[in-house]
Amino acid sequence: MEALQQTILKPIKFQGIGVHSGKEVTVRILPAPENTGIVFKRTDLSENNIIEANYALVVETRLCTVIANEFGAKVSTIEHILSAFWGCGIDNATVEIDGEEMAIMDGSAAPFVALISKAGIKTQAAARKYLQITKPVVIEHEGKTIELHPHDEFSVECDIEFAHAAIGQQAYTYNAAADSYNHLVSRARTFGFAKDVEQLKQMGLARGASLSNAVGIDDDGVMNPEGLRYKDEFVRHKILDCIGDLYLSGYRILGKVVASKAGHSLHNLILRKLFAEPDCYNIFEMPVRISKAKAL
Ligand SMILES: [Zn+2]
Repeated sequence: MEALQQTILKPIKFQGIGVHSGKEVTVRILPAPENTGIVFKRTDLSENNIIEANYALVVETRLCTVIANEFGAKVSTIEHILSAFWGCGIDNATVEIDGEEMAIMDGSAAPFVALISKAGIKTQAAARKYLQITKPVVIEHEGKTIELHPHDEFSVECDIEFAHAAIGQQAYTYNAAADSYNHLVSRARTFGFAKDVEQLKQMGLARGASLSNAVGIDDDGVMNPEGLRYKDEFVRHKILDCIGDLYLSGYRILGKVVASKAGHSLHNLILRKLFAEPDCYNIFEMPVRISKAKAL
């Protein structure tokens, strides 16, 4: 585990559309000083436009995660880019965006990971803080659960169940110490059912949704001509979402996450419950170990 905080080496710029708004946005990711965390900046607003990536600012979790500052400035669909920041080990960055919704790209975190990898990663002087789970925290709601348990490493155990043959029951466990986020999680795309899309569009949602940024499912199965990227892509995407949403804690968590049929709402509720119970966690800095090779 890294002992020091990291940011990106060079600024990143890209364009894309919001999956719900359908609107094109230009995004710039900039290096940020130590202890900044991940911060969004709405460049289309002239003032009060800074929104911290913090669980306490989550205002909506219906189809995606939305955060808003005290002045009402919002940014939505932030979970995939946050997941990529976690996966790439980025602690500090400013994400400038000239609209309300983050670009969906291909519906996964892989395009963000590729952009961050291309820009490079810079190690900073300050120690990274970890959040260690010391006692279990559980949220149960209508047959859905999420649990945090003490564990030496970060892992996410997730299962889903959909009454559709293309998905059915799926379970997957991601162990951060052993598994590559980049290869095993980052490429999993978001998904949706064709029968829901018309209704969502009438509600002003999913306006940008297409088979180029989601796995579509109809009565015959997966609609995308290219098929799935992983045979269990759906549950892997839930893990991708969970990692992104939990990064709104502002820390890298050391603990085991067990999520059953969970989603953005439960991911946020568990963080609110965790931070309301200070005896369930401990925040610490990893000691900086100087290897023999470096000492010599
Ligand atoms: Zn997602």
